[in-house]
Amino acid sequence: MQQIARDALVKERVLGLVPTMGALHEGHLSLVREALRRCSPVVVSLFVNPKQFGPAEDFKKYPRALEADRAALEKLGVDYLFAPSAEEMYPKDFRTAVIVEGLGERLEGRSRPGHFRGVTTVVLKLFEIVQPRFAFFGRKDAQQLRIIRQMASDLNLDSEVVPCPIVREADGLALSSRNAYLKGGERRAATALYRSLDAARVAIEVGERDPVRILAALRRVVDSEPLVALDYAEIVDAETFERAMTLRRPVYLLIAARVGGTRLIDNALIEPEGEALRVSL
Ligand code: AMP
Repeated sequence: MQQIARDALVKERVLGLVPTMGALHEGHLSLVREALRRCSPVVVSLFVNPKQFGPAEDFKKYPRALEADRAALEKLGVDYLFAPSAEEMYPKDFRTAVIVEGLGERLEGRSRPGHFRGVTTVVLKLFEIVQPRFAFFGRKDAQQLRIIRQMASDLNLDSEVVPCPIVREADGLALSSRNAYLKGGERRAATALYRSLDAARVAIEVGERDPVRILAALRRVVDSEPLVALDYAEIVDAETFERAMTLRRPVYLLIAARVGGTRLIDNALIEPEGEALRVSL
């Protein structure tokens, strides 16, 4: 992979990287299509990164579908699939970690200690190996996207981080490899995350500007769904990820919840647009 990356650099080709953990769905494939529009060659990495899972998390049972993933990527015309083993990525004497301070301690970082440290460490390794000019990430993982952008800027990486919109099922559920865990009634209950964000959007559209009241509208939807247990729901500044008191700057409305045994996240981006607010789900 490093040799391919070096050749692409020498030939001044615009290499694009889409980092994934595999079990690819339309969300991942939308990133791949965007990469194919802007870059050649395109590399998709597929690595279930043990370092970003907590000891009680789902590393072992995380869905793996290498052959189906390979077929889907081939069909789209992806140039390279990079699927290293855990032993190659983390030999026994591996000792380094990357920590982006201050952005990763709250929200996902608080609920999943060590998660972002695992993410930034593997993404920096992938960037070093693949040397992408552009790297594509989903806004579905908004805090991760913000942290990786910070890392790329702080460490003067030559890779530009490209954010991509959230891909949803017809009923609003954000696509996720973990949706495969949802059993029976949980699948329908899981739409409560989207429906709660949509309720917040409606509140904003009719003029609500108070984050506390917007979050109350969101919580009413989650609370009415017995199979869903809220982990957090917050409105945060899109840059600092600290709690936002107003909607005068771009903010994220972030939600994390458990549906049965499955932990899901979702978000909406709220941006001032003249006098109005644009809400992107
Ligand atoms: P993962 O395999 O879960 O690590 O995700 C790989 C990349 O795909 C990340 O940048 C995610 O943000 C992105 N992604 C996952 N689900 C979606 C989705 N529903 N819409 C857009 N991007 C997504």
